[in-house]
Amino acid sequence: VSTPQLALQTRGLCKEFRGFRAVSSVDLDVHEGSIHALVGPNGAGKTTLFNLLSGFLSVSEGSIELFGRDITGLAPERIAHLGVARSFQITSLFEHLTPLEHVELALQGMTRDGYRFWRSDRSLRRFRARADELIEEVGLAALADRPAGVLAYGQKRALEMALVAALNPKVLLLDEPTAGMGVEDVDRTIELVRRISQGRTVVFVDHNMHVVGSLADRVTVLQSGAVLAEGTYDEVRRDERVVTAYLGE
Ligand code: ADP
Repeated sequence: VSTPQLALQTRGLCKEFRGFRAVSSVDLDVHEGSIHALVGPNGAGKTTLFNLLSGFLSVSEGSIELFGRDITGLAPERIAHLGVARSFQITSLFEHLTPLEHVELALQGMTRDGYRFWRSDRSLRRFRARADELIEEVGLAALADRPAGVLAYGQKRALEMALVAALNPKVLLLDEPTAGMGVEDVDRTIELVRRISQGRTVVFVDHNMHVVGSLADRVTVLQSGAVLAEGTYDEVRRDERVVTAYLGE
């Protein structure tokens, strides 16, 4: 009998900031290959939980497992190396480099020998071909050779998505992928996340319930650092405690 594997599992996960519990006894199960949303009112602990999962914050109590392996207390680089990539809400791109160059650099950085001054034409062609694919995948082919500084906001976020995909992670943590976007960019991003999620596990935070409903297989609702509800989108949105939490915001 094969049970679906868990990509991420937390048990009793806590984070305290000088006695204040920002994340409180969280048991989270993220199934391999699923798209899992974290939602909740401002201050619910979503960002803190993300920071714990990626190792950017140390755990106060409890444990985190990645594909059954205990990763509690590992440094962010180690966790990244084990296949967890995360995007940030703030875009930090090099204004003068093109989207293609960004992705090529990300791909080169992922190789075992990292960045090198010299590479064979063959390997450069391989990076270039893969970078072309990724740029195409996120819909930036027409802008591939323009400086990133001229990209519109939604296009910068799409480039960011290509950069995290270049890391070829098993688990992708997306922090508000549609924050600050208009309707068109939101719909494009939903499609993009779907495409990028093929063959991997995605955990994302988003305030836009249209995005959550369109993408998430499972939803975990946080309030005051604790899990308030967990289930499919339809299950949690009908949950009275969830309705109350949102009305009370
Ligand atoms: P969300 O992302 O759901 O809006 P956060 O994880 O950012 O929530 O914050 C959860 C709570 O923890 C908030 O009350 C916030 O003020 C607090 N908090 C977050 N980071 C820190 C920190 N570094 N020091 C003290 N308190 C923090």
